[in-house]
Amino acid sequence: MSVLSALADAIRSQSVEVIDLTAPLSASTPVIMLPPPFGNTATFSLSEISRYDDRGPAWYWNDITTGEHTGTHFDAPVHWVTGRDGEDVSQVAARSLIAPAVVLDFSAHAAADPDFLLEVDHIKAWEADHGPLPEGGWLLYRTGWDERSADQARFLNANESGPHTPGVSIECARWLAEQAPVMGFGVETVGTDAGTAHSFDPPFPCHAALLGAGKYGLTQLQNLAALPATGTVVIAAPLPIVGGSGSPSRVLALVERS
Ligand code: MN
Repeated sequence: MSVLSALADAIRSQSVEVIDLTAPLSASTPVIMLPPPFGNTATFSLSEISRYDDRGPAWYWNDITTGEHTGTHFDAPVHWVTGRDGEDVSQVAARSLIAPAVVLDFSAHAAADPDFLLEVDHIKAWEADHGPLPEGGWLLYRTGWDERSADQARFLNANESGPHTPGVSIECARWLAEQAPVMGFGVETVGTDAGTAHSFDPPFPCHAALLGAGKYGLTQLQNLAALPATGTVVIAAPLPIVGGSGSPSRVLALVERS
């Protein structure tokens, strides 16, 4: 049997399960909120064109308003100044959109400390138990933050000092960009950097290092808890927005059940 026939059969029989890692996209989907003087992104919205009425008696359709970085989305290298000469989202190779993934679960750490930062040593310890990070794949960073994703205030978790959400250290961001074999880094939070990363030196190190290295980001993922630590294949499908810095994306995981 061909590999693809076997895969199709396995999906039908659910010996390969398809798990949706995508947040529903609606007007209440949380978006990042930058302080003045920075620009902010639109929340998602529908604008009705017709709904089986005078404007279109047999059809229903909407225009949509969305940011490129609204909801579950893909960060392309050109999103960051360090990657300004890199790929826009339409230029990311299709074959890169289907890739192996591992899940590192630090939800207990993030529950104890919302400002928790992943360090290189955490990843090395994980590799000692589970093997190396996947070449050309994704490191998916589970923090339990998807549990908050229906509520913008809880999701952003901001107080007078700014947002408090888990992320990675400066050193870890550089290591992921320059030394780790992965093609990208996926998170459950509103962005790949920690909530406090605006105050790091340099600020937003995960965006700066990974996108500067031509790597990718995936954000606002859900259901990482349903994935095994290793062995997942992720299908991440951003729209090919010409010149775009990112795109809302449907992100699916294939998981083999024994
Ligand atoms: Mn983004």
